[in-house]
Amino acid sequence: MTNEVFDLVTTNKRTTRGPDDETRIRRALVTGGAGFVGSHLCTALLDRGVDVVCLDDLSTSAPGAHELLAGRPGYHFVQHDVSEPLPASCTDTSFDVVFHLASPASPVDYLRMPTATLRAGSSGTEAALQVAEKCGARVVLASTSEVYGDPLEHPQRETYWGNVNPVGPRSVYDEAKRYAEALTFAVHRERGVSVGVARIFNTYGPGMRSDDGRAVPTFCRQALDGEPITVSGDGSQTRSLCFVDDTVAGLIALANSDVTGPVNIGNPDELTVLRIAEIIGDLAGTGAPIRFVPAVADDPQRRCPDVSLAAHLLGWQPRVDYERGLAVTVEHFRAVRPVRSGVRR
Ligand code: NAD
Repeated sequence: MTNEVFDLVTTNKRTTRGPDDETRIRRALVTGGAGFVGSHLCTALLDRGVDVVCLDDLSTSAPGAHELLAGRPGYHFVQHDVSEPLPASCTDTSFDVVFHLASPASPVDYLRMPTATLRAGSSGTEAALQVAEKCGARVVLASTSEVYGDPLEHPQRETYWGNVNPVGPRSVYDEAKRYAEALTFAVHRERGVSVGVARIFNTYGPGMRSDDGRAVPTFCRQALDGEPITVSGDGSQTRSLCFVDDTVAGLIALANSDVTGPVNIGNPDELTVLRIAEIIGDLAGTGAPIRFVPAVADDPQRRCPDVSLAAHLLGWQPRVDYERGLAVTVEHFRAVRPVRSGVRR
């Protein structure tokens, strides 16, 4: 263990209350709760008997995600932009935890909405922190492995400060999250708000939008349609894929602790993008070929979390391996894909 990691361990004393105490969260505000990760998080909280207020402007949410939750007891939906002054249903309610997830998250979305992405990380994070400060709630910030940029250190530990291009196209997302982390820690230090910063690595699973541009849903759609699976560059760049149930369990474990983080939440199994395409192609079973396309600007070459801090501080580790997770995900996309000519392939 290096001195810096040791510092993080000692400043983040292990104070997790344990899985039996998950019900200590009685009411939670989830910004971005109609999105991919957010809707799974809302479901997991409702399953634990938590009252959930989901605030979302539906700008990048998967169609139908929040309608599925709408009928559940304890679920309340507020359609609102988190970067604008929040309605009384959020500011005058007492929460135990504010999960701040609202932000465009896929490259397709944040490149289409660059200034809105910066506002969600800045004004949106400020609003989430203000709600929490007013009612004494804890804040869990959904940050990202993108704060490491195109990393020069592998695997990435929380002590690594990153290699980010501050003016490249992806900077609207990377720098918004870096600012959100800085603001969250500043409010914690200055005003004593309880915070936990999760650096989420690539998360996948049922409920992603098939057109969100991320590798797994794109490959699933292409493979199931029997179209060429488009791999950027030579496909040797790596990703580590974390199944959404594991990510959600990590966020809840962080909420149930006093750990400030930042703490990596991801799966350390590292796969090349080409291998991911091949696995999904095999699972789809349509014989879709692989097609190589030009690499994307500032696309990180390697991504792999060191999750030993989360294991040590939160007792959390990913449980779903990529074989099982990808199989479930391909079957999900097979089930929801549009029926063509009355026949689903
Ligand atoms: P998503 O796009 O599916 O969900 C984001 C949700 O936030 C959407 O429902 C969208 O409508 C909402 N939203 C966006 N801007 C908003 C605004 N200004 N006001 C209110 N709502 C707004 O993305 P996701 O994959 O579910 O990501 C959720 C969070 O987790 C994001 O903060 C993202 O940065 C973080 N994260 C996700 C991953 C991943 O692999 N999925 C990885 C790292 C970090």
